[in-house]
Amino acid sequence: MNIFFVIIISALVLDYCLSFLVRALNVRSLDPNLPEEFSDVYDENKYSKSQSYTKDKESFSHVTSTFSFLLSLSIIFFGLYDIADQFVRGFGYGEVVNGLLFFGLLMVLSDIITLPFSLYNNFVIEKRYGFNKMTLSTFFVDKLKGYFLSALIGAPVVALLLYFFESFGELAWLYAWGLMAVFTLAMQPLFNLFIAPMFNKFTPLEEGPLLTKISEYLKKVDFPVAKLEVMDGSKRTSHSNAYFSGLGKNKRIALFDTLLESQSDDEIVSVIAHEVGHYKLKHIQKGIVASLAQTGVTFFIMSLFIKNQMLFDVFKMQDLSVYGSLIFFSMLYSPISMVLGFVFSYISRKNEFEADKYSADTTGHPEHLVSSLKKLSADNLGNLTPHWLNVLLNYSHPPVLDRISTLRSLKS
Ligand SMILES: [Zn+2]
Repeated sequence: MNIFFVIIISALVLDYCLSFLVRALNVRSLDPNLPEEFSDVYDENKYSKSQSYTKDKESFSHVTSTFSFLLSLSIIFFGLYDIADQFVRGFGYGEVVNGLLFFGLLMVLSDIITLPFSLYNNFVIEKRYGFNKMTLSTFFVDKLKGYFLSALIGAPVVALLLYFFESFGELAWLYAWGLMAVFTLAMQPLFNLFIAPMFNKFTPLEEGPLLTKISEYLKKVDFPVAKLEVMDGSKRTSHSNAYFSGLGKNKRIALFDTLLESQSDDEIVSVIAHEVGHYKLKHIQKGIVASLAQTGVTFFIMSLFIKNQMLFDVFKMQDLSVYGSLIFFSMLYSPISMVLGFVFSYISRKNEFEADKYSADTTGHPEHLVSSLKKLSADNLGNLTPHWLNVLLNYSHPPVLDRISTLRSLKS
């Protein structure tokens, strides 16, 4: 009996059943009575629309997760990775190039297979609720840009990783770790200067009362930013948001144009204050350190499973390879990464409460963040009553009603 086979199949089955259960519980916990707190941003009609949005999303997830579960099982039982591997090996290149071709082939195939689902999600479900603003041409041009970036940035990193594990023996995991550390830090400026502008237009926030209010706040809490910009998020979706990026002196705030349309100046300042809180309370910095530590540990454990015959037997492979090891190890490791994911989302929810408190404390107006959260939730047709198990396992942010009641308790 191959113990790796048992672990990988059990992990797939467990993950599938658990996610199915959570979605079912989530739909059952939808409460038809509008919570009192939201009576000013929702009417009965819009509230029931938000509930059908949740239901439609969950039903759709049932379909996609069943499909991907069956696909994973077929790949294992029919030895499909080996067919891809033999095809790639047929070109007669070295191991690093084989690896790049192998990953490239898997990426293109998986994109083609999942294309109908992704089209349905954007152009049927999201469109039904008025969220999708994307044209088909934006959708496909985005895909092409994604391929371009994978080839330009992803391929060299993967090639180096493969080269390290081919050449440096027992110390390879250390080199790989160093590479990922450099990559993580280099990605921040790369994202700001090169990647984000490929997908969206950024314009400096215009002079006016909002800019004045934001600048005064940032000055008060001593948080200099290099750029304060508006992003044309409405090109793709009417979901609204704001995000911070960059580190040190190169911090940058991007506000979705849709956020500016729907929120008052005070509300926007309270959202920015929340994001500033994440930096001031060192959530961002700790997050980067934690994820680097996790990467190091994962690479070390992985190095013990490189070209492990028993692991390759699970996938009916004829040849051992480093690139195969990366994929197969990640499947073997998935129960551990699942548990780590739960821990990270717990920490993230805790951080959200702390950033909310920071916003309330430094603006002196918790009610601004409360009304902002309510509008955001209503505009995004967010689920007000998620099942606790769903929150525990999947939520990076606490349910909005919990955040509001915590903010209200700060006031008194
Ligand atoms: Zn946050």
